[in-house]
Amino acid sequence: MIKSLWLAGCIHEGEKSQDEAELQKYMNWALRNKSSVQICICGDSLDCGGFCGTKHVGSTWNNNLTPQQQLDKFVKRFNPVKDQMIGIIKGNHEKRIEDMTSVKLLKVAADQLGVPYKDASSIFTWHGKKIFVAHGAGGSYDGDFKKVLDTYEGLDAVILAHTHKLYAEPVRRYVVNAVGARTEKKIWKIRVGSFLDNADYAKFALHAPTPIGSAILQLDENNELNVRLGL
Ligand SMILES: [Zn+2]
Repeated sequence: MIKSLWLAGCIHEGEKSQDEAELQKYMNWALRNKSSVQICICGDSLDCGGFCGTKHVGSTWNNNLTPQQQLDKFVKRFNPVKDQMIGIIKGNHEKRIEDMTSVKLLKVAADQLGVPYKDASSIFTWHGKKIFVAHGAGGSYDGDFKKVLDTYEGLDAVILAHTHKLYAEPVRRYVVNAVGARTEKKIWKIRVGSFLDNADYAKFALHAPTPIGSAILQLDENNELNVRLGL
């Protein structure tokens, strides 16, 4: 049976432009396939609109829920699949509240759901494959992937969110073994997508609309990692 890891990033609970219908499709899929689908939360689960700031900060006026209501909605939404959740990573949106108050809203959510809270990043094995996940940082196409790949060796997949783009790229790496011979390995760079449609801040910043949905990491029958882009 193919195993799946739903890389659920940039859900943005409380943002008026959230595509809740699409998010519900993923929830239904996760519920229908409880034995084969796990979930990793990749940050920006709560929009946490602020009162002021420059172009990308967003605004409380673009939210239709308070941060408390966003937290409650996220916990209620994911409660039916909490046993499938392997960890929660924070994003820059939750960090706004943390920077102002020290309260980590996704830690509160993780504690309520009984899911491990991994803060800024996590390395873990998934069916024997070595995975790195963080929310991602910076606006460049994939500069944050380079930072991770410059820092860590031996990974099979690097998972980042943040830009709302949805893509996966296999990277070839040469590995020199103990007798000096060159072998080769593959590392997946995965940008996980979002459930935010064309939001006000994105229109203002002249961002092209991004695909709605998530990347899904899969382990096939041959024990190979693959990536599915969208359901
Ligand atoms: Zn986001």
